[in-house]
Amino acid sequence: MTELPSMDQLWMPFTANRQFKAAPRLLVSAQGMYYRSHDGRQILDGTSGLWCVNAGHGRPEISAAIAHQAQEMDYAPPFQMGHPVQFEAANLLAEIAPADLKKVFFTNSGSESVDSALKIALAYHRARGDGTRTLFIGRERGYHGVGFGGISVGGMVANRKTFRGSLLPNVDHLPHTYAPNHQAFSRGVPEWGGHLADELERIVALHDASNIAAVIVEPVAGSTGVLVPPKGYLERLRAICDKYGILLIFDEVITGYGRLGTPFAAQYFKVTPDIITTAKAVNNAAVPLGAVFVRNGIYDTVVNGSPDGTVEFFHGYTYSGHPLAMAAAVAAQKIYKRDQLLTRVQDDGIAHYWQEALHALRDVRHVKDLRNIGLIGAIELESRPAGVGKRAFEAFVGCYARGLLVRYTGDTLALSPPLIIERGQIDQIMSTLRDVLRTID
Ligand code: PMP
Repeated sequence: MTELPSMDQLWMPFTANRQFKAAPRLLVSAQGMYYRSHDGRQILDGTSGLWCVNAGHGRPEISAAIAHQAQEMDYAPPFQMGHPVQFEAANLLAEIAPADLKKVFFTNSGSESVDSALKIALAYHRARGDGTRTLFIGRERGYHGVGFGGISVGGMVANRKTFRGSLLPNVDHLPHTYAPNHQAFSRGVPEWGGHLADELERIVALHDASNIAAVIVEPVAGSTGVLVPPKGYLERLRAICDKYGILLIFDEVITGYGRLGTPFAAQYFKVTPDIITTAKAVNNAAVPLGAVFVRNGIYDTVVNGSPDGTVEFFHGYTYSGHPLAMAAAVAAQKIYKRDQLLTRVQDDGIAHYWQEALHALRDVRHVKDLRNIGLIGAIELESRPAGVGKRAFEAFVGCYARGLLVRYTGDTLALSPPLIIERGQIDQIMSTLRDVLRTID
């Protein structure tokens, strides 16, 4: 068994939860649907790592591709040079991209994908002589990463307050779409609430359309509690954006690559945005990678700059299209294609099985709401009074002790297992949750 150091002896991210100090939880290996913990236990992965290991852990084709590429060529500078694996990866991604979003730009994370998308939107308007379009519209309870762009358009109010005064100056937010009195225990997409998109009209009137660059939303808000958009909502956002020449950006860092049973949420909801941001599952998370999809026409405009040559767009990262990340992307995308993982959760009926298994928890103690779409689930628990520890955290600890990894955010437990999950493992997740929730006061 691995010797456990105190967390204070380790380098940890700033937001590391201090509860870990009392009970360190270390994962030491992973295969398929399971992690192995430092004390030798098998842990069923109910969260695909962090919404990212969609094809399951330890895929030999991916590790072999990375090892081969490391020997062949470890690195190539991305600005003036290219390498063949980049093109192979971009081609595979263009194949699954919706409509004409066939231009792919590589980043290293979701946060960088979001920053890139916001900059592309600004550069597009500038190049067309629409230089007043500088305002972004995000959404309350949106999460778009931790870069300055992502925090600015994101809807985590307390986090925005911390950086008040130094965020993007021109931002407004749509209300979120969650109305428990109308939507609680909806199966899949809630029937009520499509009209909430009309709030965009109010915001446009407030700022004047000629000042607005883009609207950015997660089709399904993930990290802030899994909020599924009501029926018709995204279509209405699209229509309003079209009416006023505003770009629509879908942040699909979570919904991308088969989680809803289509390659992207754009195809699930049949709404085509102008830009899609992704990361996480693009290469099954074996090496950091993000990818931004851009409409061909937008790409051409941005790359050509303004007709008078006064607008240029400089953008790119040292590691954009890194050979190892690209090799992993090619291998992962080939697995997704060969095993039909991008459509499996709908075609196989897994999404339906998942929905029914999740909603069978309805009468379990403390369950306040259940939400689902594709292979995503959320269990919202009744809140305790302020200052008393969260039930969701206790449930997370209890599940881990019983060999199940879930994610907690506020009062909500979020679930997003790998797309290779079998029905028996879904049953195991739900029965563990049922047992654990019974033990919590
Ligand atoms: N956008 C969305 C929708 C996300 O869910 C996340 C991460 N959970 C991000 C952006 C940021 O991605 P990263 O942590 O890779 O920067």
